[in-house]
Amino acid sequence: MKISSFLKDFVHVFLPKVCVSCDVSLLSHEEVLCTECIYHLPMTDFHLDEQNETAQQLWGKLDFKQAVSMLYLAKSSRVAKLVHKLKYGNEPDIGVFLGQYYTKILQPTGIFEQLDMIVPVPIHKSKLRKRGYNQAGQFARGLSKVSGVPLNEDILIRTKVTESQTQKNRIERYDNVEGVFALRRPSLVKGKHILLVDDVLTTGATICVAGNQLVQAGAAVSVATIARA
Ligand SMILES: [Zn+2]
Repeated sequence: MKISSFLKDFVHVFLPKVCVSCDVSLLSHEEVLCTECIYHLPMTDFHLDEQNETAQQLWGKLDFKQAVSMLYLAKSSRVAKLVHKLKYGNEPDIGVFLGQYYTKILQPTGIFEQLDMIVPVPIHKSKLRKRGYNQAGQFARGLSKVSGVPLNEDILIRTKVTESQTQKNRIERYDNVEGVFALRRPSLVKGKHILLVDDVLTTGATICVAGNQLVQAGAAVSVATIARA
């Protein structure tokens, strides 16, 4: 055992790092999620199927190259707890961890070689101030870190605070997000292939409205979300 890992384990005795999903103490080689919880993540394997449910949901609403979601999200599930903690529990590392993990799964498809930029769906700056981070941005950061595709968190911005989408129906969700995004420098995305990233895909309204901003500026868009409700 190396001294550094010995010290790490020693420190853990006093400040045990626990799995964000099941609260078990993490071993020195584990981060954020324990091996058991990683093993049980409900992966969609959507990257193996071009006509996956996420892609189907966006058909006709957004002109995209590829669309994938990493995890299935069922009510009261481990994933639901994980996403909730990422969004409201001041646990930005969850997003980075999932992004890094997902990159390794997507890498064999060759998608990262085709991408020029990773852009997260933005939250409004007032929310950013309150929360301290954008959960989609953290996922994007993990994807960028491992793949080497540049991350751009400033180009797409949210100009209005939107009400929560959860109590709204399909039509209301589109109305709610219509016109809330703006592109800062459209010339930067023209002719580029951009991976647009969000936390949870439900109706797809948010991702379509944000994605169409990029398409209108001449970009090709692919989509990746952490989970699919
Ligand atoms: Zn666990």
